[in-house]
Formats: sequence, structure tokens, C-alpha cells
Amino acid sequence: MRCLIVEDDDKIAADLTDALARSGFHVERCADGEAAWFAGGTEHYDIIVLDLGLPRMDGLSILRRWRAEGMGAPVLILTARGSWMERVEGIDAGADDYLPKPFHMEELVARARSLVRRSTGHASPRLTIGALELDTTRQTVAVAGQPVHLTPLEYRLVSYLAHAGARVVTPSELLEHLYGDQDSREANAVEAVIARLRRKLGAGVIATRRGFGYHLEQG
Ligand code: CA
Repeated sequence: MRCLIVEDDDKIAADLTDALARSGFHVERCADGEAAWFAGGTEHYDIIVLDLGLPRMDGLSILRRWRAEGMGAPVLILTARGSWMERVEGIDAGADDYLPKPFHMEELVARARSLVRRSTGHASPRLTIGALELDTTRQTVAVAGQPVHLTPLEYRLVSYLAHAGARVVTPSELLEHLYGDQDSREANAVEAVIARLRRKLGAGVIATRRGFGYHLEQG
């Protein structure tokens, strides 16, 4: 799951990044409003955590522009404590949830996960795609009711495909999700993980669309 954190405060951004990465998110961060507006409008994110007070473009303006352009990712805004006006304006601008500062990281992570589940149309923490079942809280996988032991890397790949639904995911998108931008691994690193997963999950779970990428058999 890809997460964009838009926060100009380095300390809060680092704490958010740690907490969300530990919870299985691949986290990217923007520290100013214009960079955030561009990233959110051009990249696919499963969840965006948006601070409202930002240099160069404020959070509410970014959110209004994203929604006007049809950007559909769930957005959780960080508001000043006691500022009901910010909350109202934020919801009106298209925020899906809000959290007043200061907040507990555990609460933020729980809300972020809940928003991702809601936006993928699954209210329960279990995702079922064909014969495959993911428990997103315990981060476990079963096929036809039988538990399958996966490494954290393998789980993240399956979870990413599961959240993508019927959308075909390119190898480069998976590469970035698994290893981040800075890593220089080749696309065949993704193929190797896919091959291991096919041995563990059975051949019919991950489908290849030749020349495009991968998706889960929807069953
Ligand atoms: Ca700020």
C-alpha cells in the first residue's frame, strides 16, 4: 500500500513515516504544498495524510484541486486542535477523515488502515479474492482455507495486488512498492518474488497479462 505524507514538520513526518512503514505501508513524503499537489495528481496512492498548514500551497487548496481533478485516493487531514472550522472546511474540500494535532500514532495508523479498507470496498479487515484470503490486521494469507507462510516482502506484494483489485499492476510499480525509489534493483527482482509466490500459493492465483503486468485472479 502506497502512502503519501504531506507534512512540513520534519519531526512529525519522520514519526509518521516510521509508524506507517512498520504497519506495511510504502511511504513517500512531500514537505511543501506544490510538490504534494503534483505528486498526488500524478502518482497512485492508497492513502494520503495531509497537513493543512504548508509552505507554497495550503492543504485545503491542494485538496480542492485534487478533488476537482478527480483524484480519488482517501485523504486524512491533520488539523489544529479545537479548530472546528478547519474540520468543516476540510470535509467540505473532500477529506475522508481528520485527526487533530497532537495525535497518537496508533490512532493515525488505525484510521489510515480503515480508510484504505473502506476505499477498496472491504469493510472487514479480511480481503477475499477468488481462493485467496488476506487478513490485513494479522498480515496472514490463506488459499482455499489453508494458511500459507509468506515472508514480509511476499506478503506486501500479494497485499498490493489484492488492494489493486482487477487493475493490472506493472512490474515497475511493484518494484517501487517493494523496494522504494532509491533502490536500483531490476524488474527481474519482482519476477523472482512472483515465481516464489506462485509456488507457495498455487499457479492460478496471480495472473500475468503479458506486456502489461500482474493481477490477482478475481474468481
Ligand atoms: Ca504544518
